[in-house]
Amino acid sequence: MSISPSLPTFSPSASELEEMDRRYLIHPYNRWERKNRCVIVRGRGCLLWDAHGNELLDVAGGGLFLGQVGHGRPELGEVAAAQMAELEYFTSLREFSNDRSIRLAERLVELAPEGIGKVFYTSGGSEGVDTAVKIARLYHNRRGEPGRTWILSRKIGYHGSTLGAGSITGFDFFHVGVGPTLPHVEHLSPPYPYRTEFYGGEDCTDFLVRELEQTIERIGADRIAAMIGEPIIGAGGTIIPPEDYWPRIREVLDRNGILMIADEVVTGFGRTGNWFESVPQGMRPDIVITAKGLTSGYQPLGAVLMRPEIGDELPGDHGFFHGYTWFGHPVATAVAMANLDLIEKEGLLDRAHAIGRWFAEGLAPVTELPVVGQVRIAGALGAIELVSDQESRAWLDPVVTEIIADDLRTVDGVIVRNEGSSLLLAPPLVLDEDQARRATTAIVNVLSRLDGQGNLAPR
Ligand code: PLP
Repeated sequence: MSISPSLPTFSPSASELEEMDRRYLIHPYNRWERKNRCVIVRGRGCLLWDAHGNELLDVAGGGLFLGQVGHGRPELGEVAAAQMAELEYFTSLREFSNDRSIRLAERLVELAPEGIGKVFYTSGGSEGVDTAVKIARLYHNRRGEPGRTWILSRKIGYHGSTLGAGSITGFDFFHVGVGPTLPHVEHLSPPYPYRTEFYGGEDCTDFLVRELEQTIERIGADRIAAMIGEPIIGAGGTIIPPEDYWPRIREVLDRNGILMIADEVVTGFGRTGNWFESVPQGMRPDIVITAKGLTSGYQPLGAVLMRPEIGDELPGDHGFFHGYTWFGHPVATAVAMANLDLIEKEGLLDRAHAIGRWFAEGLAPVTELPVVGQVRIAGALGAIELVSDQESRAWLDPVVTEIIADDLRTVDGVIVRNEGSSLLLAPPLVLDEDQARRATTAIVNVLSRLDGQGNLAPR
């Protein structure tokens, strides 16, 4: 294991690190009874090493669907160091700005869906969601419609963890014990073609368009600011909508003066093989939220992109009283720019499509297994949804997917993400064909040992 001489010395043993972690850290999503730890200390490309020196293959993109250009790229470290030596930070409030954030904004507008022309920086996705909601409300307010405050979201959509974004997230367990959540949020049904039971036998899009129209009727179009959605639902399990879903939803929103916010925190910057997935999905967004792949994880940064006519309303006579200390951080925006250059230069959008093909080929055998409900792949974003019964499509106990993910990591050295009853795949976009095969072979093997009750047969 090579530790750079310029890093401060800190060399406890692996088990000491794990013990310190248990003593000091509260991990998101972890339960108290889960005592095992996996302390990652180094990464290169799609490979990682834990504190014990075990090599692991990252098929989860830093665990959370990012890392487009892969781990440990010295080019990005050099850009960060050079920018720190030049200017590490100065605010962008009021009249101040910096050259790096201006250059990145221009690049983002060039890459963005048609009609987008303005940028507002955040430190990540949840802040981006909060920002987008405030922008949508303020836009209507400035235009003389202050009653437009409601936000339409969807169940099974993930939008972050702050009080605002967490309220908009469509998983009930995010709201337990921390309420009251944000008022004026309505969660609609998601487009989930596999789960036909959600639509009572009706065509999925017909059902959802009708539900949207009835919701608008009930709340009142003049009280709704925006609808937010992931072009393809990511953390909820690569849920790909029918082709006519977003165009028809957009048409209803247009008719009712409701803004469309595309949450591209996962899908942006090549994850599905496109710069922005909202384009092929026909969302025609007014506001686009980005983070994660914008820097491949080399710096915390997000950006909310919007139509100029929206951005132009915000300063008003009073100013736009919303913003973060790290807005337009010079180091983060310089690194983001270099990251986008790498994505382009190395053809990583095409690679995402290739990864999708390798996954589909490698996972073909699992589609026949009784525990596999559906395999869904969109470029380098994939999910294997597990069921305890094919007919009723009853979800497999989420504890089982946790056991499977642990088994894959500790025995095969393959990291996938488990969320609910699904195994989720979102590797760095530098994954090669051999690595894809290594991952899919391990997944096929583990799922072949699983029965409908969730028992994993020994190897
Ligand atoms: N939106 C989507 C679609 C996400 O998947 C996430 C995080 O996974 C977020 C928003 C929140 O981003 P962050 O964790 O950077 O706050």
